[in-house]
Amino acid sequence: MRHCGIHSPLGHRFIHVMDGGMRQNEIDDLRVRLVSPPKMIIGGASVNAVSEAVLDVVSPIDGSLLAKLPDASEADVADAVAAARRAFETGSWAKMAPAARKKILLDWAQLIDDHALELAVLGVRDNGTEISMAIKAEPMSAANTIRYYAEAIDKIYGEVAPTDASTLAMILKEPIGVVGAIVPWNFPLMISAWKIAPALAMGNSVVLKPSEIASLSALRLVELAHEAGLPDGVLNVVTGQGAVAGQALARSMDVDSLVFTGSGRVGRLLLEHAAQTNLKRVYLELGGKSPHVVFEDTDDLEAAAQAVVAGIFRNSGQVCIAGSRLLVQNSIHDAFVEKIVAVTQTMRVGDPLSLATQIGAMSSEAHLNRVLQSLESVKSIVAGGDRILTETGGYYMRPAIVTNMGPEDRLVQDEVFGPVLTVTRFTSEKNAIDLANATELGLSAGVWTSQLSRAHRMVSALRAGVVHVNTYGGADNTVPLGGYKQSGNGQDKSLHALDKYVNTKTAWIKL
Ligand code: NAD
Repeated sequence: MRHCGIHSPLGHRFIHVMDGGMRQNEIDDLRVRLVSPPKMIIGGASVNAVSEAVLDVVSPIDGSLLAKLPDASEADVADAVAAARRAFETGSWAKMAPAARKKILLDWAQLIDDHALELAVLGVRDNGTEISMAIKAEPMSAANTIRYYAEAIDKIYGEVAPTDASTLAMILKEPIGVVGAIVPWNFPLMISAWKIAPALAMGNSVVLKPSEIASLSALRLVELAHEAGLPDGVLNVVTGQGAVAGQALARSMDVDSLVFTGSGRVGRLLLEHAAQTNLKRVYLELGGKSPHVVFEDTDDLEAAAQAVVAGIFRNSGQVCIAGSRLLVQNSIHDAFVEKIVAVTQTMRVGDPLSLATQIGAMSSEAHLNRVLQSLESVKSIVAGGDRILTETGGYYMRPAIVTNMGPEDRLVQDEVFGPVLTVTRFTSEKNAIDLANATELGLSAGVWTSQLSRAHRMVSALRAGVVHVNTYGGADNTVPLGGYKQSGNGQDKSLHALDKYVNTKTAWIKL
C-alpha cells in the first residue's frame, strides 16, 4: 500500500494516510451517496426490527437526516442471542480448523482495507470525526486489530502442568460461548474490532450492539465479515437504544460474558444487570480525566505544547484517553499557556469530510449542548468554548482552554468528553503527583520531563492504566489499554485481552 503525507494540524508532523483513499474528490463523491437502509444482521440474515420501529440517524456535519436505524426491542436481542448460541453449539466456528478460522479473519481484514474509504466516510457522516483521523483510527486500525488476533489463533494453546508423574494435568483454554459487546460512538469500528476480533479468535460467538449515535459503519463491518465467509450466527449485530437493546443484552440469561466500552454511568448499570441475572462476566472500559503533566525541566516545550493540544483536541476531545487536565509547573506556566493557546488558535474547525479540517463536528447536538453547558459558569476561558458554524446546521465548537482551575472544580473532576482543556499549576513533583491522582478516574496520563529518574518515579506514582512520557497517545495492537480506579477493569488489545474471552479448564488424568 502506498502512503502520502497530509500536513498535520500540528505543523511539524505528518499524518500518513492511504494514498488511494484520501483524494478530496473521492471523499466528496462518497459524502453525497445515499445511505442504503441500514439493517441488523442476525443469524446471517439482514433484518429490520421485528416491530419495524426505527430511529432517526442525524448527521452532525449538517444536521440532515442520514438514515433510519432499526430500533431493536428485547425480542430482537433475544433472536440475536439465540442465533449466536446456535452457532456456538453447532461448532460451525468454534470447532472449525484454526487455520481456516484464521483465513476467514484475514480475508475480512483485507475486505475492510479494500473498503476503507467507504467505511471511513460513512462513519464520519455518522459521528463527525475529522476524516484525516478517522481513516487511520477506524478502518485501518480495525483491519490491523483483526489481523493481529487472526494471527494468534494458531499460536495460543494449552499447557501441561508439572505434577506428580502418576498424573497428567492439563490446563486448557476454551471459548466462553456467547459474548455481548456494547460499544460507544466515538470510534465505532476500532472499538468494535477490539472486542470482536479476540472473541472470535478464541472461538466464541458474538452479539454486537453499537451506539445509536453511530451504528452505520459497524453494520457495514459486520456485512463484510459475512462476505469473508464467517458462518451465519457467529457475529450478529443489533442496533437501537442503549436502555432497551443494550439493557436486554446485559440482562440476557444466555450471554456468558459482556464486554463494554462507554460511560461509567452505564458501566455501573451493566454490573447491576449481571448481578440480577446470570452473573455473566462484565469487563468495562470506561471514561478518563487524564492528566498531562509538564515539568519545568522539559527539553522541548514546543513538542510538549503540540502533544498537549493534540492529546485533548483530536476528535473534538471525544477520546477516552484525551489528556483533558493540563498540570504545568509554576515557573513555566504563563509561557506554556501562551504556547498552547497559540497552537490551538491555528486549528481549523469545520467540515469533517474536508482534508483541510483539523477538528470536525461534535457527535450530536445534545452532546454539544452538554459540553457548552459545562463551560457556562466558568470565568477563566482563555481560548474558544463557543458554538460556531451554526449556518451549516451542524454541531461545531471551538476548542476551549480554561485556566486557574483548582483540583475540586467540577470541570477538573468530571469527564466532559469534549474539546475542553483545564489548566492547573503545580509547585513540586509531589504536588504534581497528588493533583494528577486526585480524581476517581485513572485511564491515561502524560508526563514531560528531561530527567530519567523523574520519568520512572512518575510512571510508578501515577494511578493510570496507560502512562506516556515525552509523547502522548501512542497506540499499538501489542500494547494493552485499560483503566485503573473507576476507569474500568480488564484490558483491550494485546494478547492479555484474550483472557477475557476464554474459560480456563484443568483436566487430571491418572496415568
Ligand atoms: P454510553 O455509556 O452512553 O454508551 C455506550 C454504549 O452503551 C452505547 O452503545 C449505548 O447504546 C449503550 N447503553 C446506553 N445505556 C445503556 C443501558 N442502560 N444498558 C446497556 N447499554 C446501554 O457512552 P457513549 O456516550 O457512547 O461514549 C462515551 C463514553 O465512552 C465516555 O465516557 C468515554 O470515555 C467512554 N470511552 C471509553 C473508552 C476506553 O477504552 N476506556 C474508549 C472510548 C470511549
